[in-house]
Amino acid sequence: MSLTDKAVLNRYLDLPAPDDVTCATYVWIDGTGETLRCKTRTMLGPVNGPEDLPEWDFDGSSTGQAVGVNSDVWLRPVRIYQDPFLRGKHKLALCETYKYNNEPTDTNFRWSCAEVMEQAKDQVPWFGLEQEYSLLGSDRRPFGWPKGGYPAPQGPLSPYYCAVGADRSFGRDVVEAHYRACLYSGVKVAGTNAEVMATQWEYQVGICEGIELGDDLWMSRYLLHRVAEDFGISVTLDPKPVPGNWNGAGCHANFSTKVMREDDGIKEIEKAIAKLSENHAAHLKVYDPKGGKDNERRLTGLHETSSLTDFSSGVANRGASIRISRACAKAGKGYLEDRRPASNCDPYRVTEIIVRTTCLND
Ligand code: ADP
Ligand code: MN
Ligand code: MN
Ligand code: MN
Ligand code: MN
Repeated sequence: MSLTDKAVLNRYLDLPAPDDVTCATYVWIDGTGETLRCKTRTMLGPVNGPEDLPEWDFDGSSTGQAVGVNSDVWLRPVRIYQDPFLRGKHKLALCETYKYNNEPTDTNFRWSCAEVMEQAKDQVPWFGLEQEYSLLGSDRRPFGWPKGGYPAPQGPLSPYYCAVGADRSFGRDVVEAHYRACLYSGVKVAGTNAEVMATQWEYQVGICEGIELGDDLWMSRYLLHRVAEDFGISVTLDPKPVPGNWNGAGCHANFSTKVMREDDGIKEIEKAIAKLSENHAAHLKVYDPKGGKDNERRLTGLHETSSLTDFSSGVANRGASIRISRACAKAGKGYLEDRRPASNCDPYRVTEIIVRTTCLND
């Protein structure tokens, strides 16, 4: 599947590098607010945290983040992960981006998210996000789908959801490799499953407190694209990759605060849902990178989604904006699931507005 022979590559990766060298790959979100970029530098000496890495810059005129005559954009490392590709002591560094005048770039939503999480830290906000995605073959069609046609319809009894078998499971190598790469890197991955549409998959990131969720989710996406590249496969986070009778892709946000997790926390969950219902439109504006346009294709009320315009909530209801799991309803405490964020959402924006609305009453 891959265009080059990885056994040949490994002859070179097996060459010893000088003992004092650490390769640091800086990873950042570009001007689309969706796509990730990276570049690598040689560091002398160990890298144990972002403070061991210098500020760096890149050509923002090639990433939609600056103009050519004033093109340098700052890269500031904020969190370090183990590099599952180079292994050893080599590191991946998630970065924030800043303009020439030290203001955050237009797609840097981390700094404001971090500020909000700091303000709400006494309420101990926890998140677990469910990242859905689809695999594409070299022809840009869903990976494993028959040439010029469609696989069996998903129907009410989807052959693909949590499926096993060569006739219904497409691209598991990518899924398993990515899962292990996340575990190795330090990304808090919670699990993975095959989804309802053929060649669509999910993994969950969490439970993370505050800003850590956005960091780990963005790094998990980097790992996903990079792992798939090794197999000659690409990943789309488009929230409706195949129009028609196929499930779209979301990024359900599971959320709780300390009181929600304590006895009778369900009362606090209900209060939070009431606040969310009053801010439905404001949330949808930041639940995809196009101000709500992407979710127009996905939130049709069909295919396990809710209405774009009408807020709803319910126990075990996968057609509601907010779902409370049966286990939480039974225990009288736990968390809520916001099912509205699109698969290509920015988790910094999603977690920020959830905390603003429910914890800070903004
Ligand atoms: P489903 O597919 O049924 O919606 P998943 O199992 O895919 O659910 O995802 C549920 C997520 O909720 C898990 O990733 C988990 O980390 C997260 N979660 C569980 N408890 C809490 C909690 N108290 N606060 C926030 N997130 C939670
Ligand atoms: Mn150059
Ligand atoms: Mn799930
Ligand atoms: Mn799912
Ligand atoms: Mn879910």
